[in-house]
Amino acid sequence: MITDNLKSVTQRISRSCEKSGRPADAVKLVCVTKEAGLAEIEEALAQGVKDIGENRVQDALVKYKAIGGRAIWHLIGHLQTNKVRDAVEIASLIHSVDSMRLAEAIDKEAKKIGKIQDILIQVNVSGEESKFGISCDEARPFFEKAALYPNINVSGLMTIAPEVENPEDTRPYFRKLRELRDKLQDSQLSTINYQLSMGMTNDFEVAIEEGSTMIRVGRAIFR
Ligand SMILES: *Cc1c(COP(=O)(O)O)cnc(C)c1O
Repeated sequence: MITDNLKSVTQRISRSCEKSGRPADAVKLVCVTKEAGLAEIEEALAQGVKDIGENRVQDALVKYKAIGGRAIWHLIGHLQTNKVRDAVEIASLIHSVDSMRLAEAIDKEAKKIGKIQDILIQVNVSGEESKFGISCDEARPFFEKAALYPNINVSGLMTIAPEVENPEDTRPYFRKLRELRDKLQDSQLSTINYQLSMGMTNDFEVAIEEGSTMIRVGRAIFR
């Protein structure tokens, strides 16, 4: 089941890359395991999955104890400052940094263990009240400020599109995040290529067409 689902998702990724003239390896699949048990995760790992995404630190810790370094760990959900220590301990990438206070806490904990923590800034492109993330206008000052912290490395942007009936309706939000990324890139605050973490089960194909470099997919794999 999971094997078939993975095959199908991988094919859909390739097709979207092809359609948009991007190489098939331009997009990383992060398998979101928040609703998966250990056996299911093991099945995915056996199929060559490397990147695992969890939205709660507590859940990630439990799974990390069993799986550890056999996976690359992504934290994708809203992070509270009192969970930062555990997050920094296991996360390869934290996708959901949505306040300067959080960035500062991550820097502090990373420093303690001699790590430079890769993070993404979560942007609330749609401006929905139910969503975490900074506004598009806040992005540039946020990047400039975050660059001053030595133990965090801002490697890009993340967003969650609104839930819509027709996936095509998510396109303007993804496009806006890509344009924001391009602007930040052009301003030469950094020489690295910024990541764009965008696209989930319902909308990853549109996100890829709009330049996503990392999609976070749960239900299409583990349902
Ligand atoms: C759950 C979750 C996903 C995966 O969503 P699916 O619809 O299951 O693909 C992606 N990103 C975040 C932040 C999530 O919480």
